[in-house]
Amino acid sequence: MSDKLGWRITAHFAAFVALVMLALTFYLPGRQRAVETADLQSRLAAEAQLLSQILASHGESPVGLDALTQQWAVHLGAQVTVIAADGAVLAQLPAVHGMGEDLSFRPEVAGALATGQGVAIDSDPISGEETMYVATLGMSDDQEPKIVRLALSLKPVIDHQNQLRLTLVAATSLAVLLAVATGIPIARHITQSVSRLLGATRRLAAGDLAARVIPTRHDELGRLMHAFNEMADRFQEHATAMARERDEQDALLEYMADGVINVDGAGHVQLINQAAIRLLGLDEANVTGQSLAQVVRDHHLIEVGQMCRQQGQQQETSLEIGHLGLFLRVIVTPLNERDNPRCLFILQDLTRVRHLETVRRDFVSNISHELRTPLASLKALADTLRDGALDDPPAAQRFLDRIDTEVDDMTQIVQELLELSRAESGQVPLKLVGTEVADLLVPPVERLQAQAERAGLALTIRLPPLVPLVLADAERVQQVVANLAHNAIKFTPPGGSISVSAQAAADEVIISVQDTGVGIAADDLPRIFERFYKADRARSGGGTGLGLAIARHIIQAHGGRIWAESVEGGGCAFYFTLPTADRAATGSLPQAS
Ligand code: ADP
Repeated sequence: MSDKLGWRITAHFAAFVALVMLALTFYLPGRQRAVETADLQSRLAAEAQLLSQILASHGESPVGLDALTQQWAVHLGAQVTVIAADGAVLAQLPAVHGMGEDLSFRPEVAGALATGQGVAIDSDPISGEETMYVATLGMSDDQEPKIVRLALSLKPVIDHQNQLRLTLVAATSLAVLLAVATGIPIARHITQSVSRLLGATRRLAAGDLAARVIPTRHDELGRLMHAFNEMADRFQEHATAMARERDEQDALLEYMADGVINVDGAGHVQLINQAAIRLLGLDEANVTGQSLAQVVRDHHLIEVGQMCRQQGQQQETSLEIGHLGLFLRVIVTPLNERDNPRCLFILQDLTRVRHLETVRRDFVSNISHELRTPLASLKALADTLRDGALDDPPAAQRFLDRIDTEVDDMTQIVQELLELSRAESGQVPLKLVGTEVADLLVPPVERLQAQAERAGLALTIRLPPLVPLVLADAERVQQVVANLAHNAIKFTPPGGSISVSAQAAADEVIISVQDTGVGIAADDLPRIFERFYKADRARSGGGTGLGLAIARHIIQAHGGRIWAESVEGGGCAFYFTLPTADRAATGSLPQAS
């Protein structure tokens, strides 16, 4: 462990207890022995003193001395020796020395003779047993001074000392055991708490924001766990808020229509959003970390970035990226961070805006152009009439007829413009009903039959037997068929043929108008559905250039497609599709508006 720490705590605790107890074991017995020895010494000294005084008052009789000595020895449980002033033993019980034996060499005897009292402790050389000797000098006026010596074994004192030592050793062992027994649960609680905190900290560091510890007690460790949980709560809130913010920013970046590229100080792409990848036609996998020059391959764009970095100021410019057919507005903003000066590129796709601007300009110039010719004719005709043609009724009639025609042409232009504008703004409601394809093709073809014959053309309808009903506003689709057939008549030289036919496909019907006429040049083909667009060679046709634009709107409002195929000089074919009425059930059709 975790358990290492537990054992260390327990071992330290037990060692401390053992140390204290051992110190007591060494100190206390010695101390006890010293106290008991001192007690014994003072007791013996008092008793020896008392005996000396009794002896001094008793007289000289040796018989009396022996009797007294025996009585005292029995009474005190000690060896009693009466010694003359020259050190000779006068009486002793229990006897060890012979009568008259000189004991003046004994330190306690010498001490008594010198100061009145002497003490000595001897140990037996064989048994090692210690004995305390206390001698006092008794003085009397009429007798020779005598020394009374009491000797008592110190064995009881030493026995007490040993007993105490043994008790302390046992107490030490018990205390160590108790220390270990109580230390282990405490240490386990500490180490388990620390382990749980460690585990939760590691999980939190590894990203598990839900990592928490359940506090088990109300001690400091419990409070530490509470504090950890609070810290983890704050951390989680913070991390969640940051993640949400980052997700919002990512989503914003990903879904914004403008391209965003973040380039670091070394010119490497750090971040690029989907719009920029799409706009610049990049391979997403090979962009981040690459240099901008490698990624973009447009020197204008790179130059703008360099200027931004050099001048530290926002740069704004418009660029045409030819190979991508793009017109971009580029705003480069310096992000001046101290250690990492970056540039933020915003790419706004103005291709469509510019296209619309071009279309609007073309539209105005086309209208002016279309109206100028008839207006100039009208002016000339009016001038001619005013200058005298009025006086020539047949000529005046011819001029009036021509004025009529010019006004009709202008009226047609204005009407078609109105119709186109209404179609473009969705103001023409379609009445979509299941319709026979024949009902869409036959009426306009019949109406144009005479005109085709006059132009020396064969105009035919080819309808397969089983064509499904289509969902269409018949009047509007007939208008489209009439326009396509009328164009075919206009652009097919006499002797040619025009075929109007229909063919069923998956969930739609394809209607075509094919002719053997002049055809349309490949360059013009993609543009013929634009307003006022007329292929050069067709200008002689005298139309407004609005018919196909109107037709496209009508077909698209039906949920269909319209397109043309042609080989210049080899005739052309116009196709459009209409959804079958069955498809209405799938709900994928446009609503009649
Ligand atoms: P317009 O009123 O001039 O016919 P449209 O929009 O109907 O206007 O046609 C646009 C141009 O498309 C025409 O001016 C002509 O150049 C070309 N075009 C249309 N139909 C045909 C066709 N059948 N053959 C050749 N050119 C055609």
